[in-house]
Amino acid sequence: MAKDYITVTIEKQKKIALIAHDGMKKELIQWCDDNKDILKKHFLCGTGTTAKMVAEATGLPVKGYHSGPLGGDQQIGAQIVEGNIDFVIFFSDPLTAQPHDPDVKALLRIAQLYDIPIANNKATADFMITSKYMDEEYQHHVMDFQKNVADRAKTL
Ligand code: PGA
Repeated sequence: MAKDYITVTIEKQKKIALIAHDGMKKELIQWCDDNKDILKKHFLCGTGTTAKMVAEATGLPVKGYHSGPLGGDQQIGAQIVEGNIDFVIFFSDPLTAQPHDPDVKALLRIAQLYDIPIANNKATADFMITSKYMDEEYQHHVMDFQKNVADRAKTL
């Protein structure tokens, strides 16, 4: 692995973010209920309304950030950057325009950059939640951002 990358561990106990657009909230709540026995082993958080609805419907503890359109997706992205979220279930609505579309795109980009598993539909979420890695540590390679800054400051 090139030295521009560092090895980061996604722990056995995952830090999972849950997000659903309004048209997909019922589906995500059902999915969380169906997978409650697995989800209860991990740390859960989510955008405000999703977190509240999932917590009320399933009894699972879900830390709530701001509502998505009010900056919640950006908060989740920032937590990925800080290493505080390492797994995302995001049921986005492919048929409805969202006022916070730029924030959604920003979150997807940050998740991609930090090599974070992210599901945007139920099938992907089902494959992820049944992965053998749910019960194991997973090591992945993420760009060494400190080195990147040091190199750029030297060369630009
Ligand atoms: P919400 O935000 O959970 O507060 O509804 C989700 C979103 O629309 O991104």
